[in-house]
Amino acid sequence: MNSKLTSAQAIELEDKYGAHNYHPLPVVIDRGEGVFVWDLENKKYYDFLSAYSAVNQGHCHPDIIRALTEQATRLTLTSRAFYNSILGPYEKYVTELFGYDKVLPMNSGVEGGETAVKLARKWAYEKKGIEENKARIVFVHGNFWGRTLAAISSSDDPSSYKGFGPYMPGYDIIDYNDLEALEKALQDPNVAAFMVEPIQGEAGVVVPHEGYLAGVRRLCTKYNVLFIADEVQTGIARTGKRLATDYEDARPDIVILGKALSGGVLPVSAVLADDYIMMCIRPGEHGSTYGGNPLACAVAMEALKVVERENLAENAFRLGELFRAEMQKLIDESDLVTLVRGKGLLNAIVINDEEASNTAWNICLKLRDNGLLAKPTHGNIIRFAPPLVINEEQLMDCVRIIRETILNFSK
Ligand code: PLP
Repeated sequence: MNSKLTSAQAIELEDKYGAHNYHPLPVVIDRGEGVFVWDLENKKYYDFLSAYSAVNQGHCHPDIIRALTEQATRLTLTSRAFYNSILGPYEKYVTELFGYDKVLPMNSGVEGGETAVKLARKWAYEKKGIEENKARIVFVHGNFWGRTLAAISSSDDPSSYKGFGPYMPGYDIIDYNDLEALEKALQDPNVAAFMVEPIQGEAGVVVPHEGYLAGVRRLCTKYNVLFIADEVQTGIARTGKRLATDYEDARPDIVILGKALSGGVLPVSAVLADDYIMMCIRPGEHGSTYGGNPLACAVAMEALKVVERENLAENAFRLGELFRAEMQKLIDESDLVTLVRGKGLLNAIVINDEEASNTAWNICLKLRDNGLLAKPTHGNIIRFAPPLVINEEQLMDCVRIIRETILNFSK
């Protein structure tokens, strides 16, 4: 524990010296282990956000930390000017695990998205025969894939895009979970790709109807358009399968991974595709100094092995069913909760807040007081996404905290 600092002092420092581009819940986390985190005063909490699903393997997983420290004392960065001894083994492991010919390693999730869009454009010009600079990418309303100019140009959330124009051209935005709208959009012969989250995370855990992803696959094949699945938040077992697209006959042409690919240790992202797409990018056409660095490769390989070894997808699937059943009971008991939705351990409850009076935020403050950390998204939605290493007893303890907090809550 950092004994020199109190939580109040830490918050004051961030407010004074850091840009105000976030609005954190007032709690200062100093330490983490598994499903738990501790603040500077040593109060213990369940982490029910998992750093937006980056810490699927739990905080400071000993095997991942061992991989990190062993590699850190050996070699951390070479750049891609040279080969390094761990990139190849990592690339073999990750491509075989997910069943793709090739991987392109990057760092943050948004860079993974940028890479996928660049790759799709290149494929469109070289393979589909779209005229240079005419390629279009189709996105959906409510999408979120990060904060770069390319990403916010596809956003329909003013707090993401307003004041940051001009925007990236060549984008179309259609409704999510609407196959008719997709078919109409894909009829434009200049469409290179359709990029979509299998479940929309930041939009408030919006789950499409069964068959939507299979329908996306079918339509993309029919119109020779690439299906890009943004699995940055849904991937790596979060929704109860290795990938959320695994629930249906919906193998994407391009998969973007990030967040839990490193188990919350450092920024690691990856783009997976087969050769007919990936080989459209040649030496010098794309890259990143840190992409594929030895430290990231060692950490990512171990982070993926932990997910497999500890059967985290199965655990997420089973405990997710239990969690939603318990939350469903709460809907009957309380007027405050109107809906529960999600898959695996990516879930959300919708709070009845017609007066828009910050009810979800205030509930999160009470949850914090009661030892559970969660954060509202889009005003009245609270996302619940604990580390996937949580066990049934811990989950039921969390259900108790949520239940008591909601039932005792008064505005
Ligand atoms: N894609 C999705 C679905 C996300 O949820 C996020 C982040 O929340 C990103 C991409 C961007 O990832 P990063 O913040 O690592 O750039």
